[in-house]
Amino acid sequence: MSSGNSAERVAIIGAGIVGLAQAWLAAEGGRQVTVFERSPRACGASIRNFGMIWPIGQPHGELYRTAMRSRARWLRLSSEAGIWVDACGSVHAAHRADEQAVLEEFAAVAPELAVDCQLLTPAQVLQKAPLINPDGLRCGLYSPTELCVNPTAATRSLPDWLAARYGVRFRFGVLASEVGESAGRPQVVFSDGTRESFDRVLVCGGADFQTLFPEVLERSGLVACKLQMLALAAESAPCPLGTHVAGGLTLRHYRIFEICPGLMSLRRRIAEETPELDRYGIHVMASQNDRGELILGDSHEYGSQIEPFDDVRIDEWILRELQHLLRLPVWKISRRWHGIYAKHPDLPVYQAQPIPRVHIFTGTGGAGMTMSFGLAEDFWRRLQNQ
Ligand SMILES: Cc1cc2nc3c(=O)[nH]c(=O)nc-3n(C[C@H](O)[C@H](O)[C@H](O)COP(=O)(O)OP(=O)(O)OC[C@H]3O[C@@H](n4cnc5c(N)ncnc54)[C@H](O)[C@@H]3O)c2cc1C
Repeated sequence: MSSGNSAERVAIIGAGIVGLAQAWLAAEGGRQVTVFERSPRACGASIRNFGMIWPIGQPHGELYRTAMRSRARWLRLSSEAGIWVDACGSVHAAHRADEQAVLEEFAAVAPELAVDCQLLTPAQVLQKAPLINPDGLRCGLYSPTELCVNPTAATRSLPDWLAARYGVRFRFGVLASEVGESAGRPQVVFSDGTRESFDRVLVCGGADFQTLFPEVLERSGLVACKLQMLALAAESAPCPLGTHVAGGLTLRHYRIFEICPGLMSLRRRIAEETPELDRYGIHVMASQNDRGELILGDSHEYGSQIEPFDDVRIDEWILRELQHLLRLPVWKISRRWHGIYAKHPDLPVYQAQPIPRVHIFTGTGGAGMTMSFGLAEDFWRRLQNQ
């Protein structure tokens, strides 16, 4: 059956942002879509993140363009679905000479890479993001392209809009326990023993590697990654944060900055001065949601390193680094949590087809909010062209 057949019945397993993006694109193409989510409402990585739509962190070229296409869809959701989206942009602030060097190097090549950003003086940085610590501030890199969403509200309200706008059906509290084939069609078996056949099935189960196709996911190269996060109550921010804020530590986290020769000495200095930051993959960022809370993080622990318990020291290191980056009158922690995502070492998303017309689509790593809509567009375009 052609992927463009308007009668095509599509099942999507998982109502995180990846599954919702797939549901949107499938339904936009005229397909009949049903989303199955095992929890009563989404509670995975997609509701636990910073809500940063972050093109600036994506490798330049095709992936940056994919991020920008996703960005355009978030803006559409703002106007069409009434989802809160703040076109806040971002500032990377440099408080150390090596951080300044990397930002200067990046700003110099950014036009060639078609990345829209500019170097700011300390005074300009503070105009954009007044809560950045002025002490020792050397410069900042401003990018206008980043958006802020409230990930919990957005992920949980998108189903209503998809249902109303495209007739997407949602079945929450339903676990898909097996996906197989019956009479040449994909068939989903549910935990209550019922089964249903579809023309196509997309498995978007996030970091669940055990329930569906464990033998494929075992060999996939995907790893789970745990991140610790905190939120500060709105009263900690005496004025708006202005933009998303990242510090020098973040320059070693996103691949786009790997083109900067100065990154090596920045990495070396951090490894010597603060090895705990490398050990736990800590870099620090802040966003501000529509409730005025500051969302802070994060750390990165992988695979067998992951414990169910949160490490208090990690929170303390995150806060210590953020207290260099931001100047706040009070640091009133309102929430702490961790999230786990699936990540592939090389790919922006892991895709496999274990059975004809059954697709596994997961592993968006730390960029699922940024990339999912664009990646889903690419998926359906490729199918259409097959
Ligand atoms: C702390 C943190 C901060 C982050 N910050 C950002 C950020 O600011 N910007 C950004 O772009 N990205 C960020 N990310 C990454 C982003 O959140 C993830 O890439 C993205 O949410 C992954 O979406 P998903 O749909 O694959 O997974 P999930 O959101 O985990 O959704 C998977 C869903 O599938 C369901 N499911 C699984 N198996 C079954 C089954 N068998 N039957 C039924 N349902 C099933 C689960 O219940 C779950 O709801 C962050 C991630 C974390 C953890």
